[in-house]
Amino acid sequence: MSTETIPNWLEKRVALTPERPAIHTQESSITFEELRTQAMSMAGKLTSLGVKKGSHVAIYANNSLDFVRFVHAISYIGAVGVFLNTRLTKREISFQLKDADCDVVIYDQDISSIIEDLGEELAIRSHSFAEISKQNESPYEPQLEVAMDEVYTILYTSGTTGNPKGVMLTYGNHWWSAVSSALNLGLSEEDHWLATLPLFHVGGLSLLFKNVIYGMPITLLTSFDEQEIHNAIMEKGVTIVSVVSVMLKRLLAQLHVDEAYPSSFRCMLLGGGPAPKPLLEEAASKQVPVIQTYGMTETSSQIVTLSAQDALWKIGSAGKPLFPAQLTILNNHQKTGAQTIGEIVVKGPMVTSGYYKRPEANEETIQDGWLFTGDLGYVDEEGFLYVVDRRKDMIISGGENIYPAEIEEVLLGVDSIKEVGVIGQDDDRWGEVPVAFVVLHEGVSLSTEEIYSHCVRALAKYKIPKMIYFEDYLPRNASNKLLRRELGNWLKKRGNAE
Ligand code: ATP
Ligand code: MG
Repeated sequence: MSTETIPNWLEKRVALTPERPAIHTQESSITFEELRTQAMSMAGKLTSLGVKKGSHVAIYANNSLDFVRFVHAISYIGAVGVFLNTRLTKREISFQLKDADCDVVIYDQDISSIIEDLGEELAIRSHSFAEISKQNESPYEPQLEVAMDEVYTILYTSGTTGNPKGVMLTYGNHWWSAVSSALNLGLSEEDHWLATLPLFHVGGLSLLFKNVIYGMPITLLTSFDEQEIHNAIMEKGVTIVSVVSVMLKRLLAQLHVDEAYPSSFRCMLLGGGPAPKPLLEEAASKQVPVIQTYGMTETSSQIVTLSAQDALWKIGSAGKPLFPAQLTILNNHQKTGAQTIGEIVVKGPMVTSGYYKRPEANEETIQDGWLFTGDLGYVDEEGFLYVVDRRKDMIISGGENIYPAEIEEVLLGVDSIKEVGVIGQDDDRWGEVPVAFVVLHEGVSLSTEEIYSHCVRALAKYKIPKMIYFEDYLPRNASNKLLRRELGNWLKKRGNAE
């Protein structure tokens, strides 16, 4: 086992640029030196509550300065952070707390009910930020160096295809993730990143590491508010913002026809899920510099990213693997050629060494350092990746492969359609046929025939949904991702009812 160590990131940052602004929130701004003082103080208080090196400490909180202090406090102690999505149900939280062998859970008193309820049931200690702030500090030995192969965080996958799994990420994984992104985007003295994504997801959390490693200020928003983000970009000197596609859609709606983002605004990094082409084209037409990325919890956020110079001529592509990463497309363990769809398999120092306590999943997913992502995609002749869909969701109809995401993208091009989910329905003749669940924008009406006439122009006959089911909403998980397997249950229920 390698024992490579580097200086504690916040410690090093303070040695370099103590006075630089670190975090801006709506209420206040703090420098790196202040952040260090506050994080060390929280570490002392957590120590007095029994947290020590190796403890598994869960956090249940929305974005706040306390969250940031916590992330650095556990690094000083050498504890492992377990990050809980605050939109999960009590049952899901309970599962993750037990599964990750948490010793204690730290929570925000403003959203305390689930944790307070669980306290008794789980026999796990819990402390609110308010309680912690009143604690006395106990002495502890601050970890002034971090070991690259030491686990720093456990984050659960979104549970889109099955039960969420706890992904162990080391200091080395997060370090390489931050460095690799800088090698792609470049670093500028002027950079100022807007943190809008939840910090309990890897996409949000990774910004806290970029913050100290790059010495770059971030503005932390406590929740997604398109008006506030718009203002931050227009007036506060923000140069980069990470978004998911729903956010991008809402931000574009804020931008009036005669308005443009300031030229100092470098890019909108788009990740977390499929990026429908109509959305990317709308962004391009409004001169919003969108850079698509592909990644997952297992890869500490992005692992494949477009570069700024390729963003426009390779629209729709997720780009090329970051400098220290590799990508291959496999079909039955054979490498495919350009333009041929297969499983996306990736390797690199930002890739997890495994899921916590899941030997079988680890054996299946990680082989010789290569991570089998379960996603399908292809590369073009120049090596640019196009993500197609999840392998589990592929529909096989009369021997043809159908990718639900392609049909969803076409249907999302219809103005009246707000949301859509496509799955396969059993069919005596074809094995499976695609069917679509559609949510319309409020107050509009659309007939099945109108949808069909749109599909006929854009899709081969076998890809056209055989049934359109109109719904009021679609099933989504706590990360707002479409749950196609739940749509399968909806279909079964309909079948039973008929
Ligand atoms: P689970 O693994 O529990 O089923 P999940 O895969 O949704 O949940 P995350 O790690 O949050 O959990 O999401 C990563 C996944 O998001 C990727 O594997 C991929 O399916 C999807 N994704 C990410 N970026 C893109 C992209 N650019 N285009 C299409 N899909 C993407
Ligand atoms: Mg996954």
